[in-house]
Amino acid sequence: MDQPKTPAQAGPLKGLEEWDDFVKSRYAQGAPASPDKDPEEFRDYTDSTPERVKEFYRLNHAHQTRDFVREKKREFLPGNRAQMSLWEAMEFLNTLVDESDPDTELSQIEHLLQTAEAIRKDGKPDWFILTGLIHDLGKVLCLWGEPQWAVVGDTFPVGCAFSPAIVLHQYFALNPDSKVPAYQARLGVYSEHCGLDQVEMSWGHDEYMYHVAKDYLPEEALYMIRYHSFYPAHHEGDYEYLMNDHDQEMFRWVREFNPYDLYSKSDEPPKVDALRPYYEDLIAQYFPAQLRW
Ligand code: FE
Ligand code: FE
Repeated sequence: MDQPKTPAQAGPLKGLEEWDDFVKSRYAQGAPASPDKDPEEFRDYTDSTPERVKEFYRLNHAHQTRDFVREKKREFLPGNRAQMSLWEAMEFLNTLVDESDPDTELSQIEHLLQTAEAIRKDGKPDWFILTGLIHDLGKVLCLWGEPQWAVVGDTFPVGCAFSPAIVLHQYFALNPDSKVPAYQARLGVYSEHCGLDQVEMSWGHDEYMYHVAKDYLPEEALYMIRYHSFYPAHHEGDYEYLMNDHDQEMFRWVREFNPYDLYSKSDEPPKVDALRPYYEDLIAQYFPAQLRW
């Protein structure tokens, strides 16, 4: 494919895929943990995690503060960066070339199409398929110079205690919020079962894409986009104390989406040009021709 190459993104990883691969290896086996699992039982990944991935999490955990999240929202949520259609955003994201293994790894557009195609094959509703197609488009943040640790990574609430269920939890000792007593109680600035719409999440491609898409998709789809990297909750079963009944109901969809994100690998890469008309059509059913990014 004739794509202009974009220089590697700022960060310790060879590319964003290195984090995706780590998540895959981490969650590939075994059923999700039960919600009442003892925090002591969360697996310690210190030894089994590659150095670059550890360094990535060190930066992520050290810098994702409540203030940082708010600053990024002020910067990006007005949508003043670009006007693009969703397909244009897919092509733009595809200019992001990971150094990890460019010949054998799937491109970003292929991951999106493969996820969507697996969902389509299972006969899920249109909006579910569309969600698979667009769930990672928030990664375009990298192309605007955002460091990897502010684009990908497991997400978690800020303004309250960092759960031991978050991978490589020890690096939160470096986070300035660890020294703010009001943020270190279990509930922090929140109240019991206040609902996730009251809770600020660490900043990254999930939260950003939720805001880009929020006027156009059903709520189930928006939960899948916004919380797909919230592994401490949807996989480890933690943070139940911040969720209300409605969140619990909606998280069934987040959990239903996750395997498509992790496992949808087909033998051959999806044929982008052949699939494009179907997906352009699907996009047009839900979204305007141009979106604000
Ligand atoms: Fe993602
Ligand atoms: Fe993904």
